[in-house]
Amino acid sequence: MKLRRASSVAGLEPASNSLLLAGGTEVVPLLRAGILEAEELIDVRGVVPRGISGPSIGAGTTLAEIESSPDVPDALREACRLAASPQLRNTGTLAGNLLQSTRCWYWRLNWPCRLHGGDACFARDGEHREHAVLANDYCASAHPSDVAAALLALGATVQTDRRSLPLAELYRVPSEDDRRSTTLEHGELLLSVELPPADRSVYLKAMERKRWAFPLVGVAAARSGDTARVALAGVAPVPWLLGPAGLEAATPLPGNAYKLEIATALVKRALAQLDG
Ligand SMILES: Cc1cc2nc3c(=O)[nH]c(=O)nc-3n(C[C@H](O)[C@H](O)[C@H](O)COP(=O)(O)OP(=O)(O)OC[C@H]3O[C@@H](n4cnc5c(N)ncnc54)[C@H](O)[C@@H]3O)c2cc1C
Ligand code: SF4
Repeated sequence: MKLRRASSVAGLEPASNSLLLAGGTEVVPLLRAGILEAEELIDVRGVVPRGISGPSIGAGTTLAEIESSPDVPDALREACRLAASPQLRNTGTLAGNLLQSTRCWYWRLNWPCRLHGGDACFARDGEHREHAVLANDYCASAHPSDVAAALLALGATVQTDRRSLPLAELYRVPSEDDRRSTTLEHGELLLSVELPPADRSVYLKAMERKRWAFPLVGVAAARSGDTARVALAGVAPVPWLLGPAGLEAATPLPGNAYKLEIATALVKRALAQLDG
């Protein structure tokens, strides 16, 4: 496998068998496990902006840098602080976090499930305690990014080398026609995330243990003027923006209805903190 350091965005030209690499905390373990395959790795750290400038956060900024910045809204800072371990946050980038793959254990063990091109979701009939309670019909994986939920509540937009899009449109619920969970084209480079102003925001997270765990349920809430938005991690195959129906649309599986109780309590608590 070749490693190439990208020297300009225009000259990136990724071949169909190449993979983009930033901190590598996600890509490297998946390559080692044989879940990802590539003939060429393109290290994009030299060409993806890094740092925080007003409302714009470079996609190459590490989670540790965001966590320690006084310039980012509380929900985002807290989502970064509660993610992973200090070592991982020092290396892992914003783009890599938003584009991380599912933590579904069947998928990580390379079982031939729907997201690997097969025709079954092993989690639905098997072990699904940590899986999705919403939009879980085709694939019950639960989106693991705390950061994406915070950005969704904050109404962030994403800038790539080809377009600008609301963060919500970066993601898609996998289906039979298209099993991907993001809308990025092959080789499309995430460059920055733009944040509109927020008056107040919070992020609350329930985990299996107090530190270094993915969200069982994460709840972000943000208020700007009279508008409050709530978004959740760990409850659907994509970061989930709570609509007018609230959690009524949920379809929990036999082993994960407890997540709805947690989500209901955290949403209530997060909204109370916004008003407090
Ligand atoms: C043990 C462990 C615990 C974790 N716990 C949490 C947690 O609690 N909460 C949470 O939110 N996250 C958690 N994470 C995820 C962690 O935050 C990510 O692994 C990290 O942020 C990925 O960043 P990276 O730069 O290393 O990505 P990489 O591994 O380099 O890349 C990840 C993906 O993003 C793509 N990519 C990277 N940069 C770009 C770009 N600029 N444009 C387009 N594509 C790009 C890569 O091609 C790849 O598909 C955990 C990870 C581990 C390993
Ligand atoms: S939840 Fe999704 S990733 Fe996990 S086994 Fe089912 S189809 Fe595969």
